[in-house]
Amino acid sequence: MPESLKKLIDIISFLPWIWEKTATKLAFFLLKANTSYINNFANYLQKIKKEIHECKKCYAYTDSKNEFCPICKDSSRDKNVICVIEDYLDLISIEKLKIYNGIYHVLGGAISPMSWIWINDLKIKELLQRIENNDIIEIILATNPNIEWEATAMYIRENIKKDITVSRLSKWLPSSGYIEYADEITLINSFKGRS
Ligand SMILES: [Zn+2]
Repeated sequence: MPESLKKLIDIISFLPWIWEKTATKLAFFLLKANTSYINNFANYLQKIKKEIHECKKCYAYTDSKNEFCPICKDSSRDKNVICVIEDYLDLISIEKLKIYNGIYHVLGGAISPMSWIWINDLKIKELLQRIENNDIIEIILATNPNIEWEATAMYIRENIKKDITVSRLSKWLPSSGYIEYADEITLINSFKGRS
């Protein structure tokens, strides 16, 4: 196999959930694809890295540079309730339910000493500042049910200095499941049963 093709397979294999066999098939697909598709694909990958930004308030992804995301800008959203999530995919899952009208805070992961992810690697300090500086009445910790998130949720709870409601999604969430994969009814029940 030509070295350049091996290199392409290596690059594709770096993607999560892609095993070598799939990477090889994708590499051959790209090799046979027409030039305009390949050019579009390559250009768009570069473009999206430049055009997608984190919201300055909640750290969700947005197209607007130096601006807030559509949810933070939406005057009909309840700015007194913050739902704390691990990443942007969780926001998409929750928004699909159409049962939550508050705002979000994307932490960017969970505390995980095993993976060398510490408090300062996440947007925890920023969350605590938002709570301190704004009229927040409730924080919903929509965190995934695993050890890393237990530690993260505990740290957040212990460091909130104001007297506000701090709720967790109820145990409806299957212990093996992540928010991203939970079905809609489970998530709706989990939101309603938060405590
Ligand atoms: Zn935002």
